[in-house]
Amino acid sequence: MKRYRQMESLHRTLRFAARIVPLRKRALWQDEWVAELSYMLEEDSATALGCREGMMRDAITLRWLAVVNAWRAIDWREPGLCLRLIAILFVSLFVESMARSQLRHLAFSKWGYGAFACFIALALFSLPSTMVTSRYSACEAYEGETASFRQRFVRWRFLAGKLALLVLSAYMLALQVTQLFQHLLGAWADWVLVACGLVFNVIAASWALTDQRERCPTCMRLLKNPARMGPPSWSLLGSCATEEMCDRGHGLLHQPEWQTSWFENARWLQLDRTWKELFHP
Ligand SMILES: [Zn+2]
Repeated sequence: MKRYRQMESLHRTLRFAARIVPLRKRALWQDEWVAELSYMLEEDSATALGCREGMMRDAITLRWLAVVNAWRAIDWREPGLCLRLIAILFVSLFVESMARSQLRHLAFSKWGYGAFACFIALALFSLPSTMVTSRYSACEAYEGETASFRQRFVRWRFLAGKLALLVLSAYMLALQVTQLFQHLLGAWADWVLVACGLVFNVIAASWALTDQRERCPTCMRLLKNPARMGPPSWSLLGSCATEEMCDRGHGLLHQPEWQTSWFENARWLQLDRTWKELFHP
């Protein structure tokens, strides 16, 4: 191969591989490879051409490491991330449903408006029972005797946002399931929507309330490091429970293993500012 063809081939590979390298490291990576290849071309052009595979591997490795680091850097305990993930779920279901013309007409028909109203009513009716089954109301962390107005507002806004997005996602899913049965059942398919409304709303509300219960009432971050306190035989006079803490040092959630008359509900132990230094910022 002539020298200018070798140069052209190397240049093409270098340009292609540089697009794979993360932008932050691209200029330095390119400079290093240009210097390396220039030296090799002077010494032995065949060796320089053999480096193309190594160049691609190097670029892919750098991109892979960037992806792994970005994944590890995600703060899964953050409440904002939880809302964003549910919003992505809803938008995906909405776009997927609206892309189907039959489903779009069904959703914006008279039947669709009635079905939506029925679905929301079922969601509201399922809330009180799921509050009991998820034991959300039995968590003293949310009694809020020490919580400021702002903290309570943030809590309720987070819970309401979660519930609204989940119920809307469940509605989109229920519409899709109902449409599948409409050809088979005709008018009876309305009952499929009612059944979906009952099941999906209960699942969505239970998850939202359980997730809320597992969060710090001050910053809404998920609690971590569950630690068992005491063996089961201590349930009468001692303490048999699981304790989880907020990684910002706001407090500890003490959940009894079994309900007893003297220790029925989960208790929240609020830590004062002096504890903060022991936790990460
Ligand atoms: Zn906290």
